[in-house]
Amino acid sequence: MLASQGKLIVVSGPSGAGKTSVMRRVYRECRVPLVRCVSATTRPPRPDETEGVDYYFLTDDEFQLRRQRGEFVECFQVFSYNYWYGTLWSEVTPGLSAGKWIVLEIDVQGAREVVSKFADAITIFVRPSSREELQRRLRGRGTETEEAVLRRLARADGELALADRYKHQVINDRLDQAVHDICEILTQEWEKSRHD
Ligand code: 5GP
Repeated sequence: MLASQGKLIVVSGPSGAGKTSVMRRVYRECRVPLVRCVSATTRPPRPDETEGVDYYFLTDDEFQLRRQRGEFVECFQVFSYNYWYGTLWSEVTPGLSAGKWIVLEIDVQGAREVVSKFADAITIFVRPSSREELQRRLRGRGTETEEAVLRRLARADGELALADRYKHQVINDRLDQAVHDICEILTQEWEKSRHD
């Protein structure tokens, strides 16, 4: 399939909702050709993360310098302590001009900012089946301190309250089903874009 014009797809969901695992499979399995936008962050890499693949890991100074230069479509201090996350224009503009469908896996604040700039962005919210399940997954990850887990849980409550702002909501209860649901949404949007 070839795109006639580029589009942004914004995928949000509380951390621990399984968004990363779902999207990893969506990139492999969905018939719509997708490009994953690599965000920048000041968070240190987790053991299994690779520079330039999962994130561009920047120092605070680098991040703020690039922010001042206007290099971000959106950027926020996602957790209330000290980590910044942002979408770089350089990850978005060339792909859009080339007709790519670019996926932004970002938080609810970033999503709102992107939609204000790209009104036709497709928005998808990935949610866990319950708050208990979310809690279980966050602890199971084993990469965070208890304090960080509690902070992420508090934040998740805030994010879940904003889910209605998204055009589509997908429950990640069973991975296969969630992957299927997102592929279905994107395929339908793709078909629609061919007739617009
Ligand atoms: P994590 O630290 O678990 O990789 O990500 C924490 C949160 O930051 C997630 O909700 C993730 O979607 C969000 N995030 C990742 N990249 C960006 C970005 O570029 N912009 C914004 N606003 N949020 C981001």
